[in-house]
Amino acid sequence: MDKFLRRKDSSSRTDDEEPNTSVTNNLKKVVKRKYDEDCIKYGFSWCGDETAPRPQCIICGDQLSNESMVPSKLKRHLYSSHPSCANKDKQYFKRCLEQNKKQKKFMKSAVKVSEKALEAN
Ligand SMILES: [Zn+2]
Repeated sequence: MDKFLRRKDSSSRTDDEEPNTSVTNNLKKVVKRKYDEDCIKYGFSWCGDETAPRPQCIICGDQLSNESMVPSKLKRHLYSSHPSCANKDKQYFKRCLEQNKKQKKFMKSAVKVSEKALEAN
């Protein structure tokens, strides 16, 4: 019995460490949101990791966090940052996206050219 009590005592002395353990235990399970095709309605594509995609604004290229992959947040960005595009439909954003992709390709080749120019120097 004595032994038992002492053990209890010593374990209560390690209370200091408990906050740490409880923090780890309480770590919220991070829910990773997948990209929903519907996001294009709000002018959003995605970038980054496929398992935790980040919504990317097709219009301004802004990247939001994975937790922002919800219609309400995407909508808020669209309405506050691009009110003129708020009433555009999917097709419009898809076209923008295609154009962006083309532009990116163009930019990449432009970078290559300037890199070559640098080498030449
Ligand atoms: Zn934007």
